[in-house]
Amino acid sequence: MRILIAMMKHETNTFSPIPADLKRFEDWGIHFGDNARAAYEGTAMPMGAYIELAKSINAEIVTPVAAEAMPSGPVTKEAYEVLCNAILDEVRGGVDAAMLDLHGAMVSEVTPDGEGTLLERIREIDPDLPIAVTLDLHCNLTDKMMQNCTTLIGYKTYPHVDMYEVGMQIGQALLDSMEGKIKPVMSWGNVPLLSQTLCQGTDDEPWRHWFGFAGRRKRKRGLSRQQHLAGLRLPISSRPVIR
Ligand SMILES: [Zn+2]
Repeated sequence: MRILIAMMKHETNTFSPIPADLKRFEDWGIHFGDNARAAYEGTAMPMGAYIELAKSINAEIVTPVAAEAMPSGPVTKEAYEVLCNAILDEVRGGVDAAMLDLHGAMVSEVTPDGEGTLLERIREIDPDLPIAVTLDLHCNLTDKMMQNCTTLIGYKTYPHVDMYEVGMQIGQALLDSMEGKIKPVMSWGNVPLLSQTLCQGTDDEPWRHWFGFAGRRKRKRGLSRQQHLAGLRLPISSRPVIR
């Protein structure tokens, strides 16, 4: 099995006058090919989790790009196309699955929905490609994202200390769906609620209460967090530390 694993992240603030050009990605980190794998293998990022999962099933791993820039204005046309085309060229070459480490709040000069447009372009090339996606808790979810992937998840904690965990969870769900063990179904909706940006920590109230409530509801219906992690193909002890 040949699995494409890539990272393409930017949290765009359209009010910012600072463009997210290639230089801005270079400042934070932009890697292609084997350098992308070397940069994130063994890390606690979703991309690190994806690589561990792919290795655990002896899949061939291709990592066309891993890029992130600090939050700023819209991603320039040039930067967006360079990052997208690195991924799309690999899809054209033929892969069996894609696992993508995205943010979910990327605006580009090309599109207001950076991630949805990328996923749509991938599916235009390979309509049935199984695709797993991780997004940041601070994403702006769209129908286009939901309609153009197989499994999708967002970080649950802020600060984002669960990036590896959600990467393992959604990557495993994709592999299980490919083996016919599960049939993932996704639905979503907006609620009329705007949270205070300075009070979003999930260790602080009011989110601490709601986060704990959601966790208890989830555990009531299924596996505990420990059981869930133990059920993944890697032992908990092998999880890399957060860097
Ligand atoms: Zn965030």
